[in-house]
Amino acid sequence: MERLRTPPAMRSWADARRAEGARIGLVPTMGCLHEGHVSLVRVAKETGCSAVAATIFVNPTQFGPGEDFEKYPRDEARDLAMLEAAGVDAVYLPGVKDMYPEGHQTFIEVTGVSRGLCGAARPGHFRGVATVVAKLFLAAKPHVAVFGEKDCQQLAVIRAMTRDLDFGVEIVGAPIVREEDGLAMSSRNAYLSGGDRIAARCLSRGLFRAKDLFGKGERDAGTLVAAAGAAIDGEPLAKLEYAEGRDPVTLAPLSGRADAVTILVAAKVGPTRLIDNITLGN
Ligand code: AMP
Repeated sequence: MERLRTPPAMRSWADARRAEGARIGLVPTMGCLHEGHVSLVRVAKETGCSAVAATIFVNPTQFGPGEDFEKYPRDEARDLAMLEAAGVDAVYLPGVKDMYPEGHQTFIEVTGVSRGLCGAARPGHFRGVATVVAKLFLAAKPHVAVFGEKDCQQLAVIRAMTRDLDFGVEIVGAPIVREEDGLAMSSRNAYLSGGDRIAARCLSRGLFRAKDLFGKGERDAGTLVAAAGAAIDGEPLAKLEYAEGRDPVTLAPLSGRADAVTILVAAKVGPTRLIDNITLGN
């Protein structure tokens, strides 16, 4: 497994793989890897990628003031061992100065789909995400890039950017990997202490409750969203930030009868901000 630390090193690797006729798959991450990340590598291979690169970069431009950039969990040695075991061919680990040298002043802003949901709670977040993903695409020159459906709005932002800027990269969404009790895997779960860890189940519990209702024939988006929100509201250690029903393809707000809906939730459990979502009827 090659380790690449600068944009020119990443580009040379990509140019060499393309010259050999490889199909390059890219899996961007912020490290502190778990089974959710490993599943993205598997999906890249399943979609026929013959050379898979993963990236580990905690991107400062997607963190707001007072967010957890400094204390975001980092464990490079463990991450490298996991990626090696998953059969990744190259890991791109640029430093902050490599990605944002003195004088950096160019950002990418995806408008519509970045608004609302996490975009409302985290101003500038998706601008940072779009910018770093564009930079990763330009360095790694992938044919395919795999992102988790866990970050549903992020996936929609990246799809829009890739289409609008003609990147020519196929964006593949991969299903959410969960802990046994339903909690969506996340690097930030490392922040959850005993009581908070148990309380954190309320996000998936609410989404599964909505799924049950949908299975029993409920089609009113408001009722389904209310069921998801109620599970979070009923948990004393959790504070609901949003519960919303959106169109699964466009993420446009939905109300009334819906034969297909994505329910997205965000909540703070103690100091830890968690997100989750479920798509019903697709
Ligand atoms: P992160 O390291 O949190 O920035 O996530 C890197 C990639 O892994 C993103 O595409 C995430 O959507 C994806 N991811 C994170 N958690 C999960 C999960 N539980 N299941 C599937 N994909 C995930």
